[in-house]
Amino acid sequence: MTMILKVLLAIVMFFALIYASSPLFLPFFEKRINKIESRFQYTASKKAQDFHSTLFVADLHGDPLFSYRNLLRRNPSGHMDLPRLIEGNIRLQVFGVPTQIPLFANIDRNSSKVGLGGVLAFLQHWPLNTWYSGKNRALYQGKKLHDLEAKSQGTLTIIKTSTQLKEYAQVKAAENRGVAGILMLEGAHVMKKIPEDLEELYHKGFRIIGLSHLTDNHLGGSAQGIEKGGLTEVGRKVVKRIEELHMIIDLTHASPALMDDVLSIASRPVLVSHTGVKGCVNNNRNLSDEQLKAVASKGGLIGIGFWEEAVGQEGVESIVNSIKYASDLLGVKHIALGSDFDGGVAVPFDATGMVHITEGLMNRGFSKEEINMIMGENAFNFLVTVLPLD
Ligand SMILES: [Zn+2]
Repeated sequence: MTMILKVLLAIVMFFALIYASSPLFLPFFEKRINKIESRFQYTASKKAQDFHSTLFVADLHGDPLFSYRNLLRRNPSGHMDLPRLIEGNIRLQVFGVPTQIPLFANIDRNSSKVGLGGVLAFLQHWPLNTWYSGKNRALYQGKKLHDLEAKSQGTLTIIKTSTQLKEYAQVKAAENRGVAGILMLEGAHVMKKIPEDLEELYHKGFRIIGLSHLTDNHLGGSAQGIEKGGLTEVGRKVVKRIEELHMIIDLTHASPALMDDVLSIASRPVLVSHTGVKGCVNNNRNLSDEQLKAVASKGGLIGIGFWEEAVGQEGVESIVNSIKYASDLLGVKHIALGSDFDGGVAVPFDATGMVHITEGLMNRGFSKEEINMIMGENAFNFLVTVLPLD
């Protein structure tokens, strides 16, 4: 055997070994990547539990589809799956679909040159075509949600229209059963052909489009990118087509310039599904008062995140601080929840712990009506207004 053949064989054997053993080591890594902070040990009062069980709870962002876990059953790692969503009384969950994670991802500056999306698809035994294509990784996660719906025996209902959402609320949610899911693309860098790729995603059930994720792309800049530029010509076309299709623009992760540009041309309300506010934690990714006001002035909705970098280190207290700050600034009707469960973050509780937010808001003096709005009614009203009618 020639030297070259031996080296090639060694490389193939190495990757085969990694591929075969990945189911053994992925749970180990996930416990560290999607962490639950063990220093918080909350127990909710009976009063909070009783009130929480009457609420329509909505979470505007979680990324469990990017995980290897079987979401039909309860898992010992990660933040959510169907049983935990039900236990947390979450009636509406937006399922984010990330496709690319930059090597050495950080909050300030990420290059789009080397990404781990394909590697993660390989390690999770996703189909071969997802190893090299971000769009295929997005479509595959969309398919995963549809497969989950089919196997869930009516527990999960994927929502694509405003009519479906209203029906779901009147029937299943009113009877306190099941959870609704909406598909969101986290980062439109995967769209190469415009508008064909966008239309394909629409037909595959995606309804919310995050224009940028952790890096700048050909549509516009990311708050965590290098150039952090504004909306490009292609980006302008995409925004126009998103609005024509009655899809929803999500400005989470957008650079300040991109946010300004989109807000200056958007004719429909926009979403910022998972964020913190600079008024509480002044970092590069959180929104300034001016940005928050600009989103609200377009009828937009802000989902406050649950993780440390977004809101601070004090668990529920920090989350409630950011909610209070944003609702004092904008009015309660613009505020909702965007946990970022399973988004590679550390949170104080998993999806079963939503009651602790309800209790935190009660203790902070929010009225029952206000808590109802923040926990889900605002998200419901926003989505009913902006989703396609049928
Ligand atoms: Zn995100």
